[in-house]
Amino acid sequence: MKVLKFGGTSVATPESLQLVKEIIKQRIDNGQLAVVVSALGGVTNQLVECSEKARAGDLDYEKTLKELEDRHLSMCKELLTLQAQSPTLSQVKIMLNDLEDVLRGVFLLKELSKRASDTILGFGERLSSLIIWSFLNSESIDCELVDSGQLIQSEDHLGHPAVDFPETSKRIVRYHEKNRDRAVLLFPGFISSDAEGKPTTLGRGGSDYTAAIIANSLNAESLEIWTDVNGVMTAHPKWVSRAKVISELLYEEAMELSHFGAKVIYPPTIQPVLKQDIPIYIKNTFRRDAEGTKIHSSFSSTEKVIKGLSSIEHMALLTLKGSGMVGIPSFSYRLFKALSNARVNVILITQASSEHSITVGIDQKDAEKAKNAVNNEFQNELKTQAIEALKVELDLSVVALVGANMKEQVGVSGRMFETLGENGVNIKAIAQGSSELNISVVIKRSDLKKSLNVLHESFFLSERKRVNLFIIGVGNVGSSLIDQIEKQGEYLYEEHRIDIRVIALANSKKLLVNEEGINLKEWQKELSSGEKMTAENFLSQMKSLNLRNSIFIDNTAEKTVAELYKDILSSSISVVTPNKIACADSYENYLELKSIAKKYGARFLFETNVAAGLPVISTLNELINSGDRILKIQAVLSGSLNFIFNNYRGERPFAKIVRRAKEEGYTEPDPRIDLSGVDVQRKILILIRESKIRMNIQEIKGASFLPEGSLEAESVDDFFKAIEAQEAFFQKMFNEANSQGKKLKYVAQYENGKASSGLKEVSEDHPFYHLEGKDNIIVFYTERYKDQPLIIKGAGAGAEVTASGIFADVMRIAHQ
Ligand code: ADP
Ligand code: ASP
Ligand code: MG
Repeated sequence: MKVLKFGGTSVATPESLQLVKEIIKQRIDNGQLAVVVSALGGVTNQLVECSEKARAGDLDYEKTLKELEDRHLSMCKELLTLQAQSPTLSQVKIMLNDLEDVLRGVFLLKELSKRASDTILGFGERLSSLIIWSFLNSESIDCELVDSGQLIQSEDHLGHPAVDFPETSKRIVRYHEKNRDRAVLLFPGFISSDAEGKPTTLGRGGSDYTAAIIANSLNAESLEIWTDVNGVMTAHPKWVSRAKVISELLYEEAMELSHFGAKVIYPPTIQPVLKQDIPIYIKNTFRRDAEGTKIHSSFSSTEKVIKGLSSIEHMALLTLKGSGMVGIPSFSYRLFKALSNARVNVILITQASSEHSITVGIDQKDAEKAKNAVNNEFQNELKTQAIEALKVELDLSVVALVGANMKEQVGVSGRMFETLGENGVNIKAIAQGSSELNISVVIKRSDLKKSLNVLHESFFLSERKRVNLFIIGVGNVGSSLIDQIEKQGEYLYEEHRIDIRVIALANSKKLLVNEEGINLKEWQKELSSGEKMTAENFLSQMKSLNLRNSIFIDNTAEKTVAELYKDILSSSISVVTPNKIACADSYENYLELKSIAKKYGARFLFETNVAAGLPVISTLNELINSGDRILKIQAVLSGSLNFIFNNYRGERPFAKIVRRAKEEGYTEPDPRIDLSGVDVQRKILILIRESKIRMNIQEIKGASFLPEGSLEAESVDDFFKAIEAQEAFFQKMFNEANSQGKKLKYVAQYENGKASSGLKEVSEDHPFYHLEGKDNIIVFYTERYKDQPLIIKGAGAGAEVTASGIFADVMRIAHQ
């Protein structure tokens, strides 16, 4: 004997019922089948709705009832042959009339007793089983309809079904004895009756349990649960789109997963089959060939430590606290008794070792009821202030990691907390089941999706890590970056198991957001028809999406954008930027950004602030972090000035060369920042600060090499005009150096607490003399590199190299 259970979606439509029939036919030759069916998908919810409305005296219940009637009648008409239709239709109509009568009674009395409610809800399965029975018979399947309501004896016990197993089994076995010759015994799921024979149910989702009870009573060879997913998955597919099917689970693991919200199995289902070691198969009615999940008792120690994640979305935490608690006898007992009497189900418990407080997690919808019950129980202690009023926190969720091997493995919880912490998820409470099959944490509901996804990536190793980018600035650097991401995407996905997606893109006017990732082949077009860009809009969308591994990239040179970093880092979103403004601002601001990043587990990376993509800051960080000390820095830090002085030979005008540098993307958007020396001063300042030396930009000595007054120009255009008019000045400057065989280099320097920058004439024996094109050179003298300095040299400007430096910072975060 095999038991097959078909859930609501499997029996929802005439098409799905054809699939059900095929599955039954395929198995029928190998022996007798017990088939359990749910109500047509969605029907139980509608019955709940009807009865609530009727109780509230809302006549609208009739509308819902009418929908239910139509649904069942048209199912008969669409599914059944003409011959089978008329007897079935009349039986269905009789049942619907009964339902109408009960609902009418509820409406008139405005009272919905437990018995009335169970009677109403039971109509779903009674109707569906009747129609399916008629259908299977009309398809020449020898099928007997069983009144499982009369066979299964159960009462509601504090919100849970309490089945009288000996009595129920006796009845099922007796019934079976008499019907051994039928090919299929068809049972409506969910329904039962109490000791007096009055209707009860097995609780929402209870058809799974019906099937398990039958499997247990008849000692079935297997229990197949046919549903609408390919099996039990590593997480609820609603939250984690890349959840995978778990091929095998132990009974205890399945129980733990279902207790913590994996709706695919109704929690009480496991117990009755576990006793006899009857395997459960979870299968997809709509994908019959899919492997499914097998739940059984054998154990192999090579299995994965963590089998799955489950979650309960709506949770409340109740905390009872007070100095007087220690002395109060049977304190916890009274708390739990109060909750249990109020029919409040406790999902998890945590108690501080001090015993001064105890926290329980419950379903949010029970919060009010629980609060009243507890305050009532402890009213005397509240009066004497031995305890404080119950603290109720709402809008929480619980996430549980489940796996039987967890107990042999150290570090699982550490990894869980670290993963959540890195993503700025604050853990409200932690509980580990005494079985050590799960660790569960309570978090804010708004963090649920993010938490499940980061944990999923962290614990299912073959999983790809998703990194979500939010980019402001799509000029030279920004568009090169997008280009590189587009080209590298597939390689990173395959080789590094990193899935980089650009979620938001903005320029000063438009903003484009796509939670699933913007199509990087078409971004210009899509951005041009994007929404209006404002910083508030960008930030609020980025924060409310609350995606894991989020990185904000600022490709602008704007102060207003740099001013957003604190807010962004405080939301645990990392910042990567070539924009030097933030790090070159006041020293306090620079330190504050670093400490906010640390506090919220975000990274603040700005490798491209100095020498574009050259690994200058990361090298410097490594020296400092390994205990070295910087003694002296000498550097040519302006790729643009180097380009300009390398190309200016007194022949073509100086202004023209500056213009070319700007066009090729070697200067800041405003070239005055380069030519005034400010850009170089900011860079040397950042190197000094990264060397753990406190300094502000005003302390850096730097004389401008430009002719007087030219920097006072109002606009970039006026500035160009001003330097055009001063060509003779630049020629003189060049000739003076050239006549002595020297070259002009804009050099920055730090030594003994002092920094400066300025134009220098360097002779051929100087290492800076041969610096080509737009290259940079940085020479570090440190305690370790005292005589032979550490030199970094290479392309120090340009959109491509800057973009690749930003990319490198993104990868540093992705790999962490
Ligand atoms: P049925 O009506 O067949 O009993 P249910 O709706 O009760 O089906 O259960 C199946 C649903 O459970 C799936 O459609 C899925 O949305 C949900 N679910 C929640 N957690 C999980 C999980 N870990 N694995 C698979 N499905 C899950
Ligand atoms: N129809 C019932 C429900 O929706 C039982 C079940 O489908 O398992 O809760
Ligand atoms: Mg179900």
